[in-house]
Amino acid sequence: MVEMDCLFCKIVAGQIPASIVKKNDLITAFNDITPQAPTHVLIIPNKHYLNMAEVANSDLKLAGEIFKAAGDLASELGLENYRTNINTGAGAGQSVFHAHLHLLGGRSFAWPPG
Ligand code: 5GP
Ligand code: ZN
Repeated sequence: MVEMDCLFCKIVAGQIPASIVKKNDLITAFNDITPQAPTHVLIIPNKHYLNMAEVANSDLKLAGEIFKAAGDLASELGLENYRTNINTGAGAGQSVFHAHLHLLGGRSFAWPPG
């Protein structure tokens, strides 16, 4: 279902262009428009959910597909080290309220995160 005002629903529907790196019946992965690392891919469910917790609560298999896509992409892109990140809620940095997982690679990452 396409939420009328949702940017990522529009990317899934092809109504807004994106650099798509992987797409199947369940998920779409595309390059972040403001990359924070040499590789910065967003992996999203094609169906609209507010955040990843909502995905997991509604459809555990779909949540697994998102994590599987992250691992598959990291392998395909030859990333030995990578960071997967989920921001949930505005206070934690979530700015788009369609569930997504960030896959970042190609540089080293500090811990703890900021
Ligand atoms: P969040 O801050 O919600 O965890 O992540 C949202 C991400 O979406 C940000 O990293 C931001 O750069 C990215 N983003 C926002 N608008 C667009 C867009 O129109 N196209 C693409 N490809 N990425 C976007
Ligand atoms: Zn959406």
